[in-house]
Amino acid sequence: MTAETQQRILSAVDEGFDAQLATTQAFVAIPSTRGAEGPCQDMIGDLLRERRYEVDDWHIDLDELRDLRGFGPIEHDFSKARSVVGTYRPATNSGKSLILQGHCDVVPTGPLEMWETPPFSPVIKDGRMYGRGACDMKSGTIAALYALDAIKKAGLKPTARIHFQSVIEEESTGVGALSTLQRGYRADACFIPEPTNGKMIRSQVGVIWFRLKVRGFPVHVFEAGAGSNAIMAAYHLVHALEKLEIAWNERAKADRHFKDVNHPINFNPGIIKGGDWASSVPAWCDVDCRIAVLPGWSIAECQKEILACVSAAARDHRFLSNNPPQVEWSGSCRKATSW
Ligand SMILES: [Zn+2]
Repeated sequence: MTAETQQRILSAVDEGFDAQLATTQAFVAIPSTRGAEGPCQDMIGDLLRERRYEVDDWHIDLDELRDLRGFGPIEHDFSKARSVVGTYRPATNSGKSLILQGHCDVVPTGPLEMWETPPFSPVIKDGRMYGRGACDMKSGTIAALYALDAIKKAGLKPTARIHFQSVIEEESTGVGALSTLQRGYRADACFIPEPTNGKMIRSQVGVIWFRLKVRGFPVHVFEAGAGSNAIMAAYHLVHALEKLEIAWNERAKADRHFKDVNHPINFNPGIIKGGDWASSVPAWCDVDCRIAVLPGWSIAECQKEILACVSAAARDHRFLSNNPPQVEWSGSCRKATSW
């Protein structure tokens, strides 16, 4: 590309920047947490139609995905789940095709009182936009759309197919991205404008989600010695999994891409639920966990290691040895990738 062409594109980006910001702000203002992504997909569909892309907006049928590699179980109402793809087709095809993909699902806000400004009323302060999902990754999705606009405004025409994709479930199972593959979308390259400090990333951890289910024996706290406290027993398992995390981080030192990364494997017990009453010894405790895996590690083998770690810890525990905990694969089950 000549310096002159580059300059024309950059000027077009600058010209469109206020509109890009306004669109980003409107996109961030939609509270698209898991299961509530519909209005975001509506907005993307409209933006694509306005720009005359060929729009494919479909309902995700889990039965079509269930048997595919990379599927993660869905436990919430999925009846309104959609994927949206806008396709650009050149008059003559001569270049390499491209997928631009962004996810519109955002993680929960956490306690509202901890936000300086409401999470879904994005504000711009000191050159940054604050709002849930502004960074991860609604600004990236909208930037990709406006980048294509800028190319057009600069008088250029891409010479290969481009699929602009808006997906859901990135923060949990990846089923949205999977649905685009099932639908048949392929390209020579895929660019995902996730927040990576402006750097190109060539290696990415995978993720396994799982739920520890501990079932105790309910008694009144008065005779606590006779029952087993499911919450306390769950702690025992969490501590054992912390040791697995240490072992996996040791193994990571042999990885080509991650050997210089400090602590690339993070084990996170993210949700803990259990018990029903302060004066009853809790009869149940569920802990939702996430752990990372590195490129080349088989998900099935890692799952076996998690199960072995949990059963060894259970055998070591007075109550759990007779009441083995269960492990459920509760969502993400995503292989790591590298290029
Ligand atoms: Zn993201």
